[in-house]
Amino acid sequence: MRYPEDVVEEVRARNDIVDVISSYVHLQKKGSNYFGLCPFHNEKSPSFSVSPQKQIYYCFGCGAGGNVISFIQNYENYTFPEAVKLLAERAGITLPEVTYSEEARKREDLKTELLKVNKEAGKFYYYQLRNESGKTAMQYLKNRGLEDETIRKFGLGFARTGQDLLYRYLKDQGFRDELLKICGIFTYDEKRGVTDKFWSRVIFPIMDVNHRIIGFGGRTMGEAKPKYLNSPETPVFDKGRNLYGLNHARTSRKKNMILCEGYMDVIAMHQAGFTQAVASLGTAFTSGQANLLKRYTEEVLLTYDSDEAGIKAALRAIPILKEAGLTGRVIDLKPYKDPDEFIKNLGAEEFEKRIENAENSFFYEIRMLERDYDLKDPQGKTGFAEATAKKILRLKSRSSGTITSKPSRINTV
Ligand SMILES: [Zn+2]
Repeated sequence: MRYPEDVVEEVRARNDIVDVISSYVHLQKKGSNYFGLCPFHNEKSPSFSVSPQKQIYYCFGCGAGGNVISFIQNYENYTFPEAVKLLAERAGITLPEVTYSEEARKREDLKTELLKVNKEAGKFYYYQLRNESGKTAMQYLKNRGLEDETIRKFGLGFARTGQDLLYRYLKDQGFRDELLKICGIFTYDEKRGVTDKFWSRVIFPIMDVNHRIIGFGGRTMGEAKPKYLNSPETPVFDKGRNLYGLNHARTSRKKNMILCEGYMDVIAMHQAGFTQAVASLGTAFTSGQANLLKRYTEEVLLTYDSDEAGIKAALRAIPILKEAGLTGRVIDLKPYKDPDEFIKNLGAEEFEKRIENAENSFFYEIRMLERDYDLKDPQGKTGFAEATAKKILRLKSRSSGTITSKPSRINTV
């Protein structure tokens, strides 16, 4: 009996470790952590610590440590499924009844194998960036303002030019073609043989919430097209149900999440201290992603590019956020195009102000709607009023879609 990975993750995310452990151990806050007497060994002064940021516990006396699920396992002497069950009930989550069929088990095994391939490929790219052949790529990242620590945190790598460098490396590691054919990072061609998908690109490993590499994005350093190339969907890479940067953002403990357009934006934001930044994976924002965000936050701030494409993307994302029961606000990046550029020019403090002043998504929608009508013309005025009324009606009919912030920048109607 095993629960699906995403269900376990939801159970973990919805049970704050400090809340849970507090009902067993008397905890006191010291700095950013909590301390108490260790329930796993006898002691008189507290050496048992709980970190709300990392959502883990650790005892400096006996070395016991883990996450909220392993705490319940150890304290209650429960098996993993029993601990998950207890915590699911505590958080009001209904668990699916799962018994694995032969076929389902095979599928799970395949996923495990694919994750191994990705992990090895990620390592290969990581070291390529750090040896002689990766010098220009490293310089490129430094020129873009990335610090060593940031490059390491996101596991950035480099794919240098070469027909099948990665392929040969993975074959040497003993991976079978059967597996490499479906992992999405090679092209199999009868005439040309096997070629690596990424050539001469900076590599962004895409990770799930458990820091496992599920896919890759590659960015050119010059003018080559496309600028970004993503590996395709595979049994472990569902683009509609994962977000770039969420593995770090989910423990940021900020009161919102920031949705950006690109990987570089996410990385620049994290480096500037906005560790709640995430991005969708080269495709439009989906309801699966909105539901994923709902596990960690109530409010999502959009920082899409300030150009037409960015506005369109924001207008598409807003109803999806509402549908998932999330409050949306839009960050104004003007006069800059994207958050990366904004932070480089005006700094983190200014960006923080833009977060505070982010516009309620409803007013943003109305303001954008206004652009479609000529308000000097009576007919245009009527059309705009009607369209606005329609939006308000829709807003009223939705119980979760209440307006929570004051109108800030609306100047017509
Ligand atoms: Zn202990």
